[in-house]
Amino acid sequence: MVEAVEAQNTAQRAGQIQELFHKEVARRRTFAIISHPDAGKTTLTEKLLLYGGAIDQAGAVRARKHQRQAVSDWMALEQERGISITSTVLQFEYQGHLFNLLDTPGHQDFSEDTYRTLLAVDSAIMVLDGARGIEPQTRKLFAVCRKQNLPILTFINKLDLPARDPLELLDEIEQELSIRAAPMNWPIGDGSDFQGVYDLPGRQVLRFERTAHGKDRAPVAVTDLDDPVLEAMIRPRAYARLRDDVELLAGAGAEFDRAAFLAGELTPVYFGSAANNFGVEPFLTALRELAPSPGVRQSNQGEVAPTDEQFTGYVFKIQANMDPKHRDCMAFLRICSGRFIKDMAVNHPRLGRTVRMSRPHRLFARERETVEEAFAGDVIGLSNPGIFTIGDTVSSGDPLHFAPIPRFQPEQFARLRNLNMAKYKQFNKGLEQLLQEAVIQVLYPIDSARREPILAAVGTLQFDVVVARLAAEYNVEATVEPLPYSGARWVLADDEQLKDAVWPAQSLRTRDPQGHLVVLFNSPWEMNYCLEKNPQLDFREASDVGVSWAAPGKEFSNRRA
Ligand code: GDP
Repeated sequence: MVEAVEAQNTAQRAGQIQELFHKEVARRRTFAIISHPDAGKTTLTEKLLLYGGAIDQAGAVRARKHQRQAVSDWMALEQERGISITSTVLQFEYQGHLFNLLDTPGHQDFSEDTYRTLLAVDSAIMVLDGARGIEPQTRKLFAVCRKQNLPILTFINKLDLPARDPLELLDEIEQELSIRAAPMNWPIGDGSDFQGVYDLPGRQVLRFERTAHGKDRAPVAVTDLDDPVLEAMIRPRAYARLRDDVELLAGAGAEFDRAAFLAGELTPVYFGSAANNFGVEPFLTALRELAPSPGVRQSNQGEVAPTDEQFTGYVFKIQANMDPKHRDCMAFLRICSGRFIKDMAVNHPRLGRTVRMSRPHRLFARERETVEEAFAGDVIGLSNPGIFTIGDTVSSGDPLHFAPIPRFQPEQFARLRNLNMAKYKQFNKGLEQLLQEAVIQVLYPIDSARREPILAAVGTLQFDVVVARLAAEYNVEATVEPLPYSGARWVLADDEQLKDAVWPAQSLRTRDPQGHLVVLFNSPWEMNYCLEKNPQLDFREASDVGVSWAAPGKEFSNRRA
């Protein structure tokens, strides 16, 4: 009898926990904003936070942007680090939903950090400048989102300034990014003639008026384009144009399709003006309604659902020495399932032991707030005295791994030289820390007399960062000497296969920290020649090597996978 009651109680508790998990997961939206510099990312972030009631934080976002306006890009990066602790993830609530906005660095050079952040979100917002359309940085960031079929909402900004024809902008999105564009509202005029937007599915007009505080006017409901109220509201030329456009759109078959959006094949497009706070609230509502809540992730133990009882998460970002006064190091963990509870003990398969998740932080504004509880989609910062590296997975149940975070294919190479040999200890320590943060990739030449590390990166800004941080944080003077290589291939092969290998005279053979053979080439021609001459070898790009950033040495395998 007692047992029966206990069993019933247990079942009831399990039911309640499941209900809580479903509720918490369903209300979460974890996203990032991608844009070309100056399109309005900071401004839009600020306005979204205002609606989220996080008014104080809006100031912090702007302050951060000002700090960024430094002499050079890497200095900006340096300055950013000092305050990025405040904005690595911004969490705010709106209409019962919880939004996690993951920050991506704003500098021009493409960074691997940004890439890894985009792997940690469930959707993205693409901000375009209405006068400029798609710009180089938009294209690059979009490609990363597209590769993982991330759902993307588009906000075309600055309609209060002269903008390009909206049809032309949609066409550009479709042509340049190969994604279908579904307009959700339609601008009525632009620049000094900007009068508002017509909400296409809602069939109502949102009027724009320049006010000191730039608050949206309440939408004026108009159910029909022929409604005399609408005709009387907007200037005749703009009205005629709106009618023509709406008719054209109806025939163009560009309706919103949720399945296509979730598959990353279609982007809903909204027009507005972030600086004037125009169209931002409907956009936030759209983000709430359309963007997906945290989804299922693949692991080596099968699918992990966000509502699974077992807590799982992985580290997507590491940042050290954020506060120059304290040698601190923070690991940022994206929760994938279950409930995080402060001080819980978790399995850390790479270390082969359990670790206690103490001192978890949610990083917000200038405060570090201790997190007591968090769910799938949330990001927490953990003090990291050497416990975590990028890609580490932790779980409260059986040990498991999520798919490794791929490395970027490096295109720039340089030799890193320590100018003061007496400081070799600090030099090694600094370099090791930067590797742990995955700031850069490093390779060591095999057959050369010189054993100095070779830095490998996507952009040369990463080299500057290494030198600057070694100087600032480890008091080590180092220089980088550019090398003439333009491409690299990881080689998976056993000794037998390598015995007959033919290497071009100008190529350089190196090893990565996991021990893989990596060959650097001077030209695409040289690389192709080498590939042709060695059909017995398996040449791969960095992203295709099948090892994570983590665990130098552990995953060492030079055998064919
Ligand atoms: P970010 O580099 O993408 O973060 O761009 P910001 O948000 O800092 O915006 C760049 C510049 O464009 C700033 O001077 C903003 O004030 C301005 N801006 C942003 N949104 C709008 C807008 O809707 N209209 C106008 N006229 N200016 C805007």
